[in-house]
Amino acid sequence: MTEQDCLFCKIVSGDVPATVVRETDRTLAFRDINPQAPTHVLVVPKEHHPTAVELASSDGDLLAELVREAHQVAVADGVAESGYRVVFNTGPGAGQTVFHVHAHVLGGRGLNWPPG
Ligand code: IMP
Repeated sequence: MTEQDCLFCKIVSGDVPATVVRETDRTLAFRDINPQAPTHVLVVPKEHHPTAVELASSDGDLLAELVREAHQVAVADGVAESGYRVVFNTGPGAGQTVFHVHAHVLGGRGLNWPPG
């Protein structure tokens, strides 16, 4: 997939609509279209990076900002105190379907461990 075809690049550019909940100079947070919990938000870098591992190598500060923004999403949705989960699916075998790194922020219900 090229960046031109990347769904989350299109959300960042506004070409595909999304319900945005937070934005910084370098990140965007928007609600997942198929929520798996009352809070299910995706936090992405505005720059295209395919996976968390690649981003960790190329711009660790930006990866850290994604995690800080994930926490701010949880605070804003009122789920930070009860607990929430931040998930980076990495690779097709783990369920990654969009190869533009994104942190899933899940909360607002009991979260089982181990995840399925
Ligand atoms: P992945 O499976 O970890 O790659 O997560 C991709 C996520 O993107 C899934 O949870 C999808 O429901 C979500 N998704 C797909 N298309 C859209 C969209 O247009 N807006 C918001 N979320 C989307």
